[in-house]
Amino acid sequence: MEKLLFGTGGTPHSSRTASTIDGIKRIAELELGCMELEFVRGVRMGEAGARLVAETAQSEGVKLSAHGPYFINLNAREPEKIIASQERIIQTARIAAFCGAESIIFHAAYYLGDPPEKTYSSVKKNLAEVMSLLKRENNRVWVRPEVMGKPSQFGTIDEVLKLCTELEGVGIGMDFAHWHARSGESNSYPEFAAILEQIKQRLGDQALADMHIHISGIAYGKKGELKHLNLKDADLHYIELLRALKDYEVKGIVICESPNLEGDALLLQETYHSL
Ligand SMILES: [Zn+2]
Repeated sequence: MEKLLFGTGGTPHSSRTASTIDGIKRIAELELGCMELEFVRGVRMGEAGARLVAETAQSEGVKLSAHGPYFINLNAREPEKIIASQERIIQTARIAAFCGAESIIFHAAYYLGDPPEKTYSSVKKNLAEVMSLLKRENNRVWVRPEVMGKPSQFGTIDEVLKLCTELEGVGIGMDFAHWHARSGESNSYPEFAAILEQIKQRLGDQALADMHIHISGIAYGKKGELKHLNLKDADLHYIELLRALKDYEVKGIVICESPNLEGDALLLQETYHSL
């Protein structure tokens, strides 16, 4: 991508209605650059609706991405839950492609007490099947497992990067708030820069040129993420983070998931451009 765009996870609160189409129009009015379609409770958009969304996004100049349903666990015990999880990812990717989105992001799995290596093998095997089906369908949407905020959730930076290097078409969904909440660390310029350096070393410059990033304020405890907060009510050093993104010439999309959505998306965008 040519630059780093900022936008909201879902339709902005100040949109005329809660519809995706009105959301895209509002993003353009606010002079933000992107929006994530929140299919978190299920993919309820059909092909016709998605094509309309694509037209609107195209004419308004808004980039789209999609968030897959929360009910996904590629490390589930029951085979039927694995299949349902794979289908939810595939469905998200199909509708995202009709919407003209270039990436989907999703929460890949829970460890459920398994050792991380065992969880990794299950996730890799089950995601590989998804990727080969999407390839057969000629679906080129980037499939991005998200970096997660709780130690019970699969999705360390290392795990996601390993999937990216081992499976074609898989990219990183880099949630800086989650990563900070997971340990309470990773909240300074040197740490943000080290993450970007790690991505560059393992995936190459082109990964930094097309990143999918989530940022929000976040509350956390011993078990990691508790809930999302507005940036002004949280401890995330977002100015240092934006400085690192700028210094590493990161391009792509930044989706803001603070409760105030467009308020913090605009704050991030304005701050980034003032650096
Ligand atoms: Zn997420």
